[in-house]
Amino acid sequence: MFEGFFFRIVLLALFLIFMGIRGYYGRKAKSSDSKRTRKERWAEQVRYESRVLVILRIMLVYAMIVFIVVWSLFPFLIPPYTQLVLVNLSWIQWMGFVICMVMIFALTWVGVHLDRQVSGSLEIKEGHTLVTSGPYKHIRHPMYLVYFIFNLGLFLICVNLVVLVIIVLGLIVTASRVRVEEEMMIGQFGDQYRNYMERTGRFFPKFQRKKKDEKLIGFAGELN
Ligand code: SAH
Repeated sequence: MFEGFFFRIVLLALFLIFMGIRGYYGRKAKSSDSKRTRKERWAEQVRYESRVLVILRIMLVYAMIVFIVVWSLFPFLIPPYTQLVLVNLSWIQWMGFVICMVMIFALTWVGVHLDRQVSGSLEIKEGHTLVTSGPYKHIRHPMYLVYFIFNLGLFLICVNLVVLVIIVLGLIVTASRVRVEEEMMIGQFGDQYRNYMERTGRFFPKFQRKKKDEKLIGFAGELN
């Protein structure tokens, strides 16, 4: 019983901290923007992405917020059949806790580097620069990766079907979004972004490439 209560509070706390950090960078980015009306913001949201996907993404965020609050504070409202594991598996929950903690630090690292270019929508801001430092040195979408792993951590803590469904739908939305995002970035930064794509992977670093490059450099060295 104690553990049940303990992890409910832990889940809520981790979620609030994560949202707080994301919100901090979101607000920081917004304050550097010129003031825009709601209508203009919506037009910006659907400029590159399809309306359906934008609405689905927003709904997923709200669904997650509602679920976490209900699971943590009003657990009697959660239908038992959505709980995938009913026995007490606290080591899995501790694993989820550790994963979430690491992802909180990872999100901060991403935020420090992406800084004012952080955005909920796909947009090119005034004075937008291409970030290639920190996690962006190795992969192009560290923030989406952090979201995914953090949500997995949440899932391990609550082991509930609702979170699993949100994660799967989130993956579909993100997969279509990264393509559009990269096209937008190519449109803005051209060869600079294409070269950046050569050096980096979407979600995993390109170790293979580096080795090949090193071999080529070594080969060129031998020729000289
Ligand atoms: N896809 C990235 C960023 C998510 S925030 C990630 O997962 O880390 C979305 C905004 O980030 C978009 O509006 C885009 O303009 C901006 N963005 C994405 N990659 C960027 C980069 N390397 N440098 C600067 N801005 C970037």
